Amino acid sequence: MGIPISQMFTVTTYVLKQKLSGRKRYPLVLMLEPLFRCNLACAGCGKIQYPAHILKAQLTPEQCFKAVEECGTPMVSIPGGEPLLHPNMPEIVEGLVARKKYIYLCTNALLLKEKLHLFKPSKYLSFSVHLDGQEEHHDMSVCREGGHAIAMEGVRAAVAAGFRVTTNTTLFDGADPNSVRRHFDELMSAGVESMMVSPGYTYDKAPDQNHFLGKARSRKLFRAILSNRKKSWQFNTHPLFSEYLMGKQDFECTPWGMPTYSIFGWQKPCYLLQDGYADTFQELLDSVDWAKYGAKSGNPQCANCMVHSGHEASAVDYNFSSLKGFFLTAKKYMFPSLYEDEGAQKLLNEWKPAGHGPLVQIGDKPAAVVVTTSVDESMTSMAGD
Ligand code: SF4
Repeated sequence: MGIPISQMFTVTTYVLKQKLSGRKRYPLVLMLEPLFRCNLACAGCGKIQYPAHILKAQLTPEQCFKAVEECGTPMVSIPGGEPLLHPNMPEIVEGLVARKKYIYLCTNALLLKEKLHLFKPSKYLSFSVHLDGQEEHHDMSVCREGGHAIAMEGVRAAVAAGFRVTTNTTLFDGADPNSVRRHFDELMSAGVESMMVSPGYTYDKAPDQNHFLGKARSRKLFRAILSNRKKSWQFNTHPLFSEYLMGKQDFECTPWGMPTYSIFGWQKPCYLLQDGYADTFQELLDSVDWAKYGAKSGNPQCANCMVHSGHEASAVDYNFSSLKGFFLTAKKYMFPSLYEDEGAQKLLNEWKPAGHGPLVQIGDKPAAVVVTTSVDESMTSMAGD
């Protein structure tokens, strides 16, 4: 199990309370974005393309605490931007720990080793390190040579200092499932507590618009990666979210499950889209026409979306909504052999790694032509500053 018992207990109690009170739409994890500026410029990121005055702005600790209290979730994820660039991040973390919130501080870990002394190990705090794959793949994904080595140094330093360290891996087209599995081995050997993996999303503002996974390709890739899993691997995502990624369960998006608060306010309707902002969390719940979002809505922006922030809360809700969901979840936790899948092993054996072609130029950034042999098309991805 990739989550400590105390956290599991807190979350279970919280969700049961929501269900017993008959609340139809409840949040599970607050995505608290205290700033958008970053020390990387990843090709797939839609968060750092803002003008300079927006990139300079940041939430105050008081604004963060107000949002956390208003939303009431037991877990708070702090993405960005790079949260370690926020000068008040230690104070924000301390305030959330005092409020007994389980925090995932999402970081590219370039500054982790150097800033570690500003934080105290706590069962409430986990550094969630962004690592998209093995060295070459990660460096290409974040457009920074050496990024993987620095991040792994940060991971090892944080583990040695007694912090909880988890990882998050975002996969785009061209990902090689064999390499991703080796990546998982490397992460677990480095002492991480657990891992999270999710497909990327086509942000309108991301510089690389040609390199995202469609649903069918996502399911094939995740079936190859997550079936026949090793005993040493620990994941902190719900087991039914894994089933969803592998195409064995289908869930509609529940965007209110992981609402986003940033310098603009409460983002409508989800972490990825920006159809306006609300001043309060209640206003967000009341003012969004939720039927306009999710795969069944016909909204083209949602058609290929399988991301964690839209669908893991759906898996958790399913877990607590029926005996079938409860027993299916229990089975997946108790019997890892249920992930055995001969067809997935065949997929792995036959998967041809993507080849990286010659460097070409996109805008002002050099990029590499990536031949995604698994789907027989050529695509282009950013490869370095
Ligand atoms: S399907 Fe994806 S893009 Fe659409 S509302 Fe849900 S999370 Fe947002």
